[in-house]
Amino acid sequence: MNVLDRFRLNGRVAIVTGGARGLGRTAALALASAGASVAVSARDIAAAETAANEIAQTTRAETIGIALDVTRATDIESAFARVIDRFGTIDILVNNAGINIRGPIERLAESDWDAVIDANLKGPWLCCRAVAILMKAKKYGKVINISSMLGEISLPERTPYASSKGGLTLLTKTLALEWAPYGINVNAICPGPFATDINLPLLNDPAVAANFTAKIPLGRWGDPEELGPAIVFLASQAASFITGSTLFIDGGYTAQ
Ligand code: NAD
Repeated sequence: MNVLDRFRLNGRVAIVTGGARGLGRTAALALASAGASVAVSARDIAAAETAANEIAQTTRAETIGIALDVTRATDIESAFARVIDRFGTIDILVNNAGINIRGPIERLAESDWDAVIDANLKGPWLCCRAVAILMKAKKYGKVINISSMLGEISLPERTPYASSKGGLTLLTKTLALEWAPYGINVNAICPGPFATDINLPLLNDPAVAANFTAKIPLGRWGDPEELGPAIVFLASQAASFITGSTLFIDGGYTAQ
């Protein structure tokens, strides 16, 4: 088989959480470009459908927009059932949805902690649980968790976020072991700084942004498009012997 053929996703079905904007949208577009049918999910159904339609027009892939709040188990069950109804199965799950609430610990509310842990850690756990029976039965599946470089190293004033992403990296390893006998690959991508909405509090302050940029070995923030090829790689048979792994896309930040 030609090496590039191992990256193709024709006939595969993917779901991306938080897929209407930012890195999730990049992931959905990349998967569709590689030939997968893609369910773009977001809390706002209009945003999900708009993104799904735009991706279908650009790639000619089949797409669907679905409403999904990853903190709600009942939403997940019904959203995934809709995807299976439309496309017949789910082969690829990208757990991308996430939030950040920054601040010194004494200024954070208990509800801030709960919100971040629910979206970033419990959400992926619920989504993985929702595909478990299906993927184990067909002995095929690719799960990609969008963790963070802050799941490995940390920064001050990120207690909920770094804790959630550290947990997500370990959730990845645990499920990789649990599902290895079933031929399901579970990996994490750990992005470094990308200029998306989640980082507006940093980007909107030029001094903070410049200070951050100075710490990135490649000397710049990531372009969301630089995530797409890694998503396709881990979603494809090109990465068939990779599981429980974490791929850093961080301009060298964690190498320091
Ligand atoms: P973003 O804010 O543009 O995207 C986050 C997406 O998640 C949005 O579409 C949002 O609506 C969705 N979302 C949030 N809570 C949700 C919920 N409960 N249910 C469903 N959807 C929900 O930011 P982004 O940079 O595109 O973030 C995507 C992922 O990448 C996040 O998990 C984030 O932690 C991770 N990440 C981003 C960076 C970065 O520098 N941008 C770095 C490391 C990790």
